[in-house]
Amino acid sequence: MARLVMKFGGTSVANIERIRNVARHVKREVDSGFEVAVVVSAMSGTTNELVGWVKEAGAVHDWREYDAVVASGEQVTSGLLATALQEMGIPARSWQGWQIPIETDGAHGSARIEKIDGARLIEGFGANEVAVIAGFQGLDPATGRITTLGRGGSDTSAVAIAAAIQADRCDIYTDVDGVYTTDPRVVARARRLDRIAFEEMLEMASLGAKVLQVRSVEVAMVHGVKTFVRSSFDDPANPQPGTLICDEEDILEQQVVTGIAFSKDEAQITLRKVADKPGVAAAIFQPLAEANINVDMIVQVVSDDAATTDITFTVPAAEFERARAALEKARAEVGFSSIQASTDVVKVSAIGVGMRSHAGVAAAAFRALAQKGVNIRAITTSEIKFSVLIDAAYTELAVRTLHTLYGLDKA
Ligand code: ADP
Ligand code: ASP
Ligand code: MG
Repeated sequence: MARLVMKFGGTSVANIERIRNVARHVKREVDSGFEVAVVVSAMSGTTNELVGWVKEAGAVHDWREYDAVVASGEQVTSGLLATALQEMGIPARSWQGWQIPIETDGAHGSARIEKIDGARLIEGFGANEVAVIAGFQGLDPATGRITTLGRGGSDTSAVAIAAAIQADRCDIYTDVDGVYTTDPRVVARARRLDRIAFEEMLEMASLGAKVLQVRSVEVAMVHGVKTFVRSSFDDPANPQPGTLICDEEDILEQQVVTGIAFSKDEAQITLRKVADKPGVAAAIFQPLAEANINVDMIVQVVSDDAATTDITFTVPAAEFERARAALEKARAEVGFSSIQASTDVVKVSAIGVGMRSHAGVAAAAFRALAQKGVNIRAITTSEIKFSVLIDAAYTELAVRTLHTLYGLDKA
């Protein structure tokens, strides 16, 4: 029998009425003959509140207890949806990550799924039972402790379960009706895409489009899970298909640029007047690597005195203080005059597999941004994307400018 995974995010299960609406979507698929596994997030706002409580309870919190607390939001919604389904006459039961089990590594707070045993879920299908699974959580079999998969992790739960039970499809229901050319809440002229390639979606998600967790796209790509992003706010009787994440070859009309993403989760660090001699870059970046801090964009320019250089780079905003401390410790060895830093920056990126075969795509952006008076602090490029670092105040202007430049505005 055909099998389906349906995932509903926080806004879609924000209260009992919305949970009933979710149940109607599930009923439609059950009635049309699917075996259904549903994955739910916590009610919107709940996970933030739980995280806040943990932080309030202990500054140096134990990550195992952090997971015990923050995983609880999904336990609530899984039980509530199973109840709402039963109320409609549909047999259903809730499943927590440890009951299935969804096995992960021991990286509490951002664990990776290692193995899912689908046997019990499939047994339930045999008894005509809908499986309602708490997203975001798993079990570290080495310790028997509950783990969570990182923020937005229910997407990954859903896709990984779809792979484990060989579902025909994984539908990610959210509060927008698909993947757009950029965040539709920021740019009104954003256009919904019927299809987007896995590689593009991976870059979009990595570069700030939080519509899917990065890891979920990786899992979908590796296991070939047919994944759609669609709206839970559609009329359950008349749903729209949403956006299919698929192989590049399955997209007929490929644009050069498919989407624009942006991330405020960046911090810029500039080391002033660094000695211009071999080994300096190693002296700077080695301590950061040892502290497990990811460095992204790097720019080196000659200082005003022409004898030394200034080195600018970015790190994730959350790692900013740690990075600064690591650099201060290495100060004697590196020999810089001062550290300048800013968290008031944003990374704006354009993504498209068409960039592989087109030259001058980024150059056009630099020109367009200059014309709007947007100063670029750093640049990176790779095969299918480029990114610019700019002042956060210009985020919307820059995103809109690039969106129009690459012909993405809706008609
Ligand atoms: P859920 O709670 O359902 O997981 P999220 O808030 O995690 O939902 O993700 C959906 C949100 O992602 C949308 O409300 C939208 O603002 C945002 N978003 C960012 N970039 C995009 C994009 N390119 N296309 C669609 N949505 C996007
Ligand atoms: N509730 C979790 C979070 O907010 C997981 C999710 O919604 O996907 O991050
Ligand atoms: Mg999400």
